[in-house]
Amino acid sequence: MHKLPFDTVLIANRGEIAARIIKTLHELGLRAAVAYHEIDAGTPAVSMADLAIPISGRTPIASYLDIAQIITAAQKANAGAIHPGYGMLSENAEFASRVIKAGIAFIGPTPETIALMGDKIRARNFVQRTGFPVVPCAIEEDDPATFVSRALAIGAPLLVKPSGGGGGKGMRIVRDLATLKTAIEQARSEARRYFGDGRVYVERYIESPRHIEVQVLGDSFGKLVHLFERECSVQRRFQKIIEETPSPALSPELRTRICETAVGIARAANYQNAGTVEFIFSGEEFYFLEMNTRLQVEHPVTEMITGVDLVAEQVYAAAGRELALSQSDIVSNGHAIELRLCAEAPERGYVPTTGKVLVLEYPDGVRIDSGIMQGQDLTPAFDPMLAKIIVHSASRTEAALKAHRAVRQLVLLGCETNANLLARILRDEAFLSGQFHTGYLEDNPHLAADNFEVEMSAFLASAALLMKPVRESADAVPGLHAALGGWRN
Ligand code: ADP
Repeated sequence: MHKLPFDTVLIANRGEIAARIIKTLHELGLRAAVAYHEIDAGTPAVSMADLAIPISGRTPIASYLDIAQIITAAQKANAGAIHPGYGMLSENAEFASRVIKAGIAFIGPTPETIALMGDKIRARNFVQRTGFPVVPCAIEEDDPATFVSRALAIGAPLLVKPSGGGGGKGMRIVRDLATLKTAIEQARSEARRYFGDGRVYVERYIESPRHIEVQVLGDSFGKLVHLFERECSVQRRFQKIIEETPSPALSPELRTRICETAVGIARAANYQNAGTVEFIFSGEEFYFLEMNTRLQVEHPVTEMITGVDLVAEQVYAAAGRELALSQSDIVSNGHAIELRLCAEAPERGYVPTTGKVLVLEYPDGVRIDSGIMQGQDLTPAFDPMLAKIIVHSASRTEAALKAHRAVRQLVLLGCETNANLLARILRDEAFLSGQFHTGYLEDNPHLAADNFEVEMSAFLASAALLMKPVRESADAVPGLHAALGGWRN
């Protein structure tokens, strides 16, 4: 193999994904540099990097979104390439093109492809024109004057979505068409608040669907392959929390159809590097939802079943190498499940929680992509996802058992998390049977609201305090009462 054209890569990201990218860079013999805001000084990525360059801004997020500062950091690090991770600047076509103009390789698709496929509206129009199935929709910008009447013509139920959005934020279901106008206005003001962009569109709301997506990988020579699908239907507020592969919902024929459709869409877009084509799946039908022109949070499950290191493939593709894998080389082996560990309280409407990582012990024998370490403050400055637990087994049943054991073994003191919810899902009959859809958590509120573990800890603590000797020694140590709150974690 020829040497890569760069020896240092700057990661324009933070948290677990920055740490995960560093691992592969080191395996490839490359130097890893990170640009970081001071709030992240005590995180794994900063301690693992060969070089850490401080950036600053009005807010921590604003620093990571500051294109000029990121490019300067790359130049300071003598980096020949930038990996954008996910979120942040990863789907910003202007960023990709300024990186390239600065003579630095962008680890992702071309700016033109990002501009086309990273924009929801342009992408769905393009996919529809290319002849692939999309959900019926009305786009405001096409003709604002007729927007509402075009939306009404689709018929209920409808989903109002922000055009410039992401992360499931700002979407509204409309079942009664009389409320459509109000819903549009509410969605618009929410979209303005979240994304600084009040554009919205309306789509047919598919009842009880699944979210299934396909990983694709391309090079600059026109070679394009898929690495099978991921099932991402376990969601809260339109956001994924458990992903797995293979999907329990697909027959071999449907799997072939959906994977080939994804490759067809990516090929039409002249897609290079790693990307994900997302579909809404219902009955035997699937519809294009969007394409993510970057590495996806849940990419590890694909790596587990295929043995392909997607970050390494991204680096090779950006370095101009021809894809070494052919479709027939990519084989799916066993079953993988990923759990997203988040700083949030499911029993209180999934509100984000904060704290400090006082004690952190991860389970053995599973893959952990972690963005936190002991002593770190957990602030509301970023997304609440802290780490991912990824398991791989021969069958789905075994993988669910292994994932359950892992989440039960995890110890994180100092901040409330969704760990108990994840454990309950992995024991739930509907999940284990594979019969679930994106409304699964909403339809089963007991999974989030059931506070059994929390109550049990409080009960045991009270029982222990009622025993005289314990009470006496407890009274002698005033701090004990204060410390009880942390047990539940
Ligand atoms: P975002 O970019 O905000 O994540 P997506 O378009 O990817 O938004 O949708 C996120 C989730 O919203 C999907 O996984 C699915 O659960 C739900 N969803 C999106 N579009 C539809 C639809 N037309 N019908 C039903 N559910 C939908």
